[in-house]
Amino acid sequence: MDMAIDLSKLRKFLEGEKARLNMEMEQLQASVPTSEERREGSPFGKREEEATEALELEKRLAMERRIREEVVGIDHALQKIADGTYGLCDSCGQPIDPERLEALPQASLCMNCKALQAKNAKGKPPAG
Ligand SMILES: [Zn+2]
Repeated sequence: MDMAIDLSKLRKFLEGEKARLNMEMEQLQASVPTSEERREGSPFGKREEEATEALELEKRLAMERRIREEVVGIDHALQKIADGTYGLCDSCGQPIDPERLEALPQASLCMNCKALQAKNAKGKPPAG
């Protein structure tokens, strides 16, 4: 196999991505108004305000979850680089399609296993 992945370059890229995500997370958390700030609002239309807040909170939590998942994926990829298993599928151990890795450097499953996982995940209630 003559496909050479520049692992040190890749590691730098992933570390950069992680730093970016951590910054995003900080900004997200910094943008949360404190409860005191919230109390400044007018007593009228409070219900609407609360509904908006709940929606904002939900959006923020979804974003936080996405960021956290991405960081976990990146950490996992960094770990695989350290272990020398980078580029191999976590599930079946086969090499992951280089094109897939190029598009998603932190991919830990090959296309087949990913598709299988997505299929299994459907229909079932989310675990944990
Ligand atoms: Zn696989």
